[in-house]
Amino acid sequence: RAKKNITTNYEFYAPEMEEKTTWRLGMIRQLRADFAERKLQVWFQPQIDLATEKVIGMEALLRWPSREGGYVSPAVFVPLAEYSGLIIEIGEWVLLESCERLKALEGLGYKDLRVAVNISMPQFRDPRFVPLIKDTLNKLEIKPKNLELEITESLVMDDPQIVVESLKDLKSSGVQIAIDDFGTGFSSMSYLQQLPLDRLKVDRAFVKEVEPGKQAFIAETIVTLGQKLGLKTIAEGVEKREQAKYMLDLGCDEAQGYLFAKPMPYDELIEFLAKHDSSESPSD
Ligand code: C2E
Ligand code: MG
Ligand code: MG
Ligand code: MG
Repeated sequence: RAKKNITTNYEFYAPEMEEKTTWRLGMIRQLRADFAERKLQVWFQPQIDLATEKVIGMEALLRWPSREGGYVSPAVFVPLAEYSGLIIEIGEWVLLESCERLKALEGLGYKDLRVAVNISMPQFRDPRFVPLIKDTLNKLEIKPKNLELEITESLVMDDPQIVVESLKDLKSSGVQIAIDDFGTGFSSMSYLQQLPLDRLKVDRAFVKEVEPGKQAFIAETIVTLGQKLGLKTIAEGVEKREQAKYMLDLGCDEAQGYLFAKPMPYDELIEFLAKHDSSESPSD
């Protein structure tokens, strides 16, 4: 009987697993081809100073146009790019693209914006990673403080030694470091003190808890932790006026979210910045 069950389970699960593997490999092949054909895009989501509501910078976000129309979610394809190692090349391009756009914005008179770029673990394992960032900043004559690298807690925990070392090196040249999705990754508090950080990004899940008449304890705790550690805090996924107000009252410095702007292509970002400059208060 037991044997029969095992056989049944095997027959039931095996084709499904094979299908998933085939699908994954197909996606990776498409991603590689589309990247080679320059079909990937980097979009930008503005980041806002909560007290003044001025735009202080933007996060670079990858977009992969889907063959069926629309876009493949980065939540789907970034892990595949990481798994296949493609993220090293793609990440290098995102970095260059982001820095070139920042430079172009400088030329348009936006002198001190910051661009935040998401970094994956395989990039840290690439020995060319740290020199690549320094060379890019040098070549484009970008102030290192105007580049921010976003890393997650799980990335740090994956290989703390290499991450701490690389970040210390980059930090000494002036680059800023943020922890993304803070509060979702069970990071060790001891690494929080060892890492040369500038900013904690309060995960969207905790900003979502902000509702009229309720207290968002985790968001509050993260802002306080940031303050005690001497770090800036930025709220992710701010969609409502009351969330922006609540986070500002907690002492959170900055915000990013649909209330202010969705991620957009560079051309739209220029238009957004021009409009936002003349009217600094977003509509609800
Ligand atoms: P993330 O770095 O935490 O980026 C923030 C995500 O929240 C983005 O999703 C953004 O579009 C979304 N978002 C921003 N404001 C709001 C809001 O008000 N409401 C809601 N519901 N969502 C909001 P996106 O662009 O789909 O990216 C997902 C994730 O993919 C990113 O999360 C990041 O982990 C990864 N990713 C994107 N671009 C890159 C990249 O260039 N390199 C790497 N390594 N990862 C990337
Ligand atoms: Mg991010
Ligand atoms: Mg995030
Ligand atoms: Mg995320």
